[in-house]
Amino acid sequence: MRVVLLGPPGAGKGTQAHRLADRFGLALISTGDIFRANLRDRTALGMEAKGYMDAGDLVPDDVVVRMVLARLSEPDAEPGFVLDGFPRTLGQAWSLEDALAEAGGPLDAVLKFTIPDDVAVHRLLGRFTCPSCQRTYNVESNPPRTAGVCDVCGGRLMHRDDDAEATVRHRIEVYHRDTEPLERLYDERGLLHPVEAVGDVDDVTERAVEAMKAGAAPA
Ligand code: AMP
Repeated sequence: MRVVLLGPPGAGKGTQAHRLADRFGLALISTGDIFRANLRDRTALGMEAKGYMDAGDLVPDDVVVRMVLARLSEPDAEPGFVLDGFPRTLGQAWSLEDALAEAGGPLDAVLKFTIPDDVAVHRLLGRFTCPSCQRTYNVESNPPRTAGVCDVCGGRLMHRDDDAEATVRHRIEVYHRDTEPLERLYDERGLLHPVEAVGDVDDVTERAVEAMKAGAAPA
């Protein structure tokens, strides 16, 4: 299965991407995580992305597309993948569509996580991320078992620099401006499945699982 997750920052895509990839045995590809790993390792790619990420702006399409297409050609992505954070512009969406058409494996579903802006802002201000395994937690809605410690790998949880309030608000604006137009594109393709992202995190997962199954079913 080949699945894209859409939705503004704070919609819970990262959390759900991990769960869905585990549940369906798919490769998890998060562009934000790949950029953060490159930043941590001070690679050329990381240095190129840094200014954009710090400002809450999008990294240019050519850079992101090259990186994602390389990742998609790795063997673990062959049976299928969950894409978290890509595509984020129409240009990225078209590049993905062309590459998948060439490889003979088009998308099966696009899950769009819906959440009001003010709820997304509130969530991001309370979000903590594990720098080792990239899992995310929230002080209110999804706290770790031990405060400040990742349940899965024991890493020390951090607040992301780009989760500061002004940057969060800017990232949400960028989503509305650059990424929301993709909803129409995928709706026209018959791929779009809205998933209510507010509420209990397990309930959101179950709604997303149902949307994935609907996407996988023959039309
Ligand atoms: P995320 O973890 O998905 O919120 O991504 C963090 C940051 O990485 C974004 O604010 C962008 O600067 C950059 N980024 C991640 N994915 C993309 C993408 N598909 N296109 C452009 N920039 C991206």
